[in-house]
Amino acid sequence: MASESIQLLTRDKQTAKAMAEITRYSDTTRLMRAGVVAIGGTVIGLCTIVIPVMHLISTWLIPLISWAIAWHIFGIQTVIGSVKGTCPGCDKAIELDGGPLASDLWARCPHCALPMQYVVGADALSGGAGAIAKK
Ligand SMILES: [Zn+2]
Repeated sequence: MASESIQLLTRDKQTAKAMAEITRYSDTTRLMRAGVVAIGGTVIGLCTIVIPVMHLISTWLIPLISWAIAWHIFGIQTVIGSVKGTCPGCDKAIELDGGPLASDLWARCPHCALPMQYVVGADALSGGAGAIAKK
């Protein structure tokens, strides 16, 4: 986890700088995290074979769900922790929650409810807005 400068981008292309705690997972870490979930779910599913009637569904459904969750976990490359900055709309100091980085990760300003998107890394420098001051 590292503290990095990111950008807050609104729908009408207003931008503001913010600091965020960012965790990037390596391919090995992602594979291990997903593998633990997939194997764990498979083992739990197979253990339910001793439960009458329920085993007709649980032996395949629990592993299937765990593989779907594992696939989702494997897809998470970057996770944003807490975000601190100023709102591009109302210029008030804001503190936002993060989440797995994806194009659909939006947050709302707690003061003016302005929706904004996180722009991280190389995207933060090239940016969609074109009006970005570097550092
Ligand atoms: Zn605001």
